[in-house]
Amino acid sequence: MMQIPLVDLQIQTSNLRPQLDAAVARVIGRCDFILGEEVRQFEAAFAKFCDCQYGVGVSSGTDALHLALRAAGVGPGDEVILPANTFFATAAAVVMSGAKPVCVDPRESDFLVAPEMLRSARTSRTKVVIPVHLYGQMLDESSLRSLCEDSSWAVIEDCAQAHGARSGGKASGSWGLMGCFSFFPGKNLGAFGDGGMITTQRPDICQKLQALRNYGSPVRYEHPVLGFNNRLDTLQAAVLSVKLPHLQRFNEQRHQVACRYEAELRDVGDLILPKIPQDGRHVLHLYAIRTRRRGTLLHYLKEHGIAAGIHYPTPIHLHGAFSDQGWKKGQFPVAERLAAEVLSLPIYPELTDDQTGYVAETVRRFFDHASR
Ligand SMILES: *Cc1c(COP(=O)(O)O)cnc(C)c1O
Repeated sequence: MMQIPLVDLQIQTSNLRPQLDAAVARVIGRCDFILGEEVRQFEAAFAKFCDCQYGVGVSSGTDALHLALRAAGVGPGDEVILPANTFFATAAAVVMSGAKPVCVDPRESDFLVAPEMLRSARTSRTKVVIPVHLYGQMLDESSLRSLCEDSSWAVIEDCAQAHGARSGGKASGSWGLMGCFSFFPGKNLGAFGDGGMITTQRPDICQKLQALRNYGSPVRYEHPVLGFNNRLDTLQAAVLSVKLPHLQRFNEQRHQVACRYEAELRDVGDLILPKIPQDGRHVLHLYAIRTRRRGTLLHYLKEHGIAAGIHYPTPIHLHGAFSDQGWKKGQFPVAERLAAEVLSLPIYPELTDDQTGYVAETVRRFFDHASR
């Protein structure tokens, strides 16, 4: 029986080991651990990868979102619109900024939130809208354009799952006022710990973010605004610089895995598969299938050595942490159904054809047994 993890960081790390060791050694040699040379280099390289003028390295994706909201002027009394089906951190960052998170239900077709749904949640207090590029896919070009050209709010993209994703030929993180990335080890581009980046085209926003991540201090020991200690470590930037040149290929390899799943799992049981555009604009952070038999399938896969995941078992509005927001069960029915039915199959660049085939075969066998 094969053992297949949801994500495997060993292979990628060992393949790049000599370059990674050299990069870490360079930083140790210079001892510029805080906002050192590698941070500046990586910020420039990653911003370019995202078709952006500026990148500001920060300590995590959560902190990227938090600081982006502050740089957009969000605070108490403001509302920020976000999907009900996203990782906890999207909403937590809004609460950290002092604003009120306003959830909206996703659509069934691709689990993204349609522009008309985002608009329906708008009030006179709305300051920002956060489209989340869930699982590595983005809204279509005209939807994004209509969101970004709407002057009644600023768009902050949650790109934590979408490094290198594109829509209408433009990279994730280059559409909104800011794009927020995570370099958590399991993301499409992962560090050896926590890290994040905010991308923007605006020099004034870049400057604000540079102060916000560094105690609100443009000049040492002067603090005209409240800032935080939210910097990207030089060591993490050095690691990320080694991996960035391979990101495009990593995303293509994810795409290959997804195409194999799609070919093998079409018309199996009650499975609903994600739609994979052939041009690679969806970067497949996760391959989330949907079935009413999610619980038993998850168990069956585990018995056969396959670690599947659930992203996410609880929608935003039902987390205990947000119980003071006044949300109720049943308020976002699509998000609740997705939370009960989605299941993520293993996907990572180094997943072999044999392994992918084994996962697909095991899923098929589950539904064969079930139908008998
Ligand atoms: C991972 C993730 C975050 C948070 O990033 P961290 O680096 O873990 O803080 C935010 N939003 C989404 C959609 C994510 O997947």
